[in-house]
Amino acid sequence: MEIKPQLLGMEPYQPGKPIEEVKEELGLTVVHKLASNENPYGASPKVKEKVQEVLLHPEIYPDGYAAAIRNKVAEHVGVREEQLIFGAGSDEVILMLCRALLSNETNTVMATPTFSQYKHNALIEGAEIREVPLKEGKHDLEAMLEKIDEKTKIVWVCNPNNPTGTYTTTKEFESFLERVPKDVLVVSDEAYLEYVTATDYPNTIPYLDEYPNLMILRTFSKAYGLAALRIGYGIGNASFIRSLDPVRPPFNTTSIAHQAAIAALEDQAFIQACKEKNRQVLDDIMAFCEQLGLSYLPTETNFILIETGIDGDVLFDDLLKKGFIVRSGKALGFPHAIRVTAGTKEQNDAFLQAFHDCLEKRKTLSQG
Ligand SMILES: *Cc1c(COP(=O)(O)O)cnc(C)c1O
Repeated sequence: MEIKPQLLGMEPYQPGKPIEEVKEELGLTVVHKLASNENPYGASPKVKEKVQEVLLHPEIYPDGYAAAIRNKVAEHVGVREEQLIFGAGSDEVILMLCRALLSNETNTVMATPTFSQYKHNALIEGAEIREVPLKEGKHDLEAMLEKIDEKTKIVWVCNPNNPTGTYTTTKEFESFLERVPKDVLVVSDEAYLEYVTATDYPNTIPYLDEYPNLMILRTFSKAYGLAALRIGYGIGNASFIRSLDPVRPPFNTTSIAHQAAIAALEDQAFIQACKEKNRQVLDDIMAFCEQLGLSYLPTETNFILIETGIDGDVLFDDLLKKGFIVRSGKALGFPHAIRVTAGTKEQNDAFLQAFHDCLEKRKTLSQG
């Protein structure tokens, strides 16, 4: 067998460590996962009620067109149903875009560090990857524009950016969109939209009228708390979505996910409450960092990247032993940082205590 050559050096996605695995390995009874930006408050209680009915009929294929959730999302977002494409998480929409637009004769432009799946899927398609380092923690849109040439097919703007939490402003995004050639797809990945509080964060929906080369990605995995059910979507130009659709696997999103997402969208009070609690917890983390003189990047998400001056993997291990799974910054492009998801207040108070102890221990070790 001969696998595509570009696959040879590649690794599968490295997910956050699962809770059960850590419990078993370290003999811990309580483990908090603050690694994958999941919603610590779960999903709306209304979701659980709604999926019960679907669970009674697992033998029936889901609606491949996802009509019910399509109708709901179209109404929620304020677009036409034909402007939507659903995926098993927005991850699958990223995959579909790469599959449809990229080949070894093309290139794609993105920031670095940013969300890993743009590069991952583009590499599989054999495309050339053009990475532009973040500037002061943010997308350097000017430098990204310069990287675009006649072979560029997709340019990715992760907004807010994972793993930094930083965002591109309305003004910056508008000016970028105006100058990107019209035959290059601009992807605005808005996985953390529901958490954003900045007033100059762009509402990208109205741009769709003027820019058929804009694609917006959103997901039910983060604030909506449906990560296990795998559902996200893309919003774009109706005719572009139609040409993209053959790439989508049949029945790629499940009936359970459809019903759960409908119920989740109907409970906006839950989202609002999560957003407020998230901000308070982030405020606590930032106050902690300031007290200890640790630098961090301002975040519009439910996670924060903290520079500790300590090897990210070392601090990751130290925290793991205390029952906290975070992300080492090492694999994320920040070797001396950790990325932490904002948990509940209780989880976070315990985390900050453990974090404090770990920092003290490393300080003592380095002085000894
Ligand atoms: C989590 C995440 C996604 C995708 O999540 P899905 O579970 O596949 O919907 C996409 N983009 C960014 C930036 C993310 O952080």
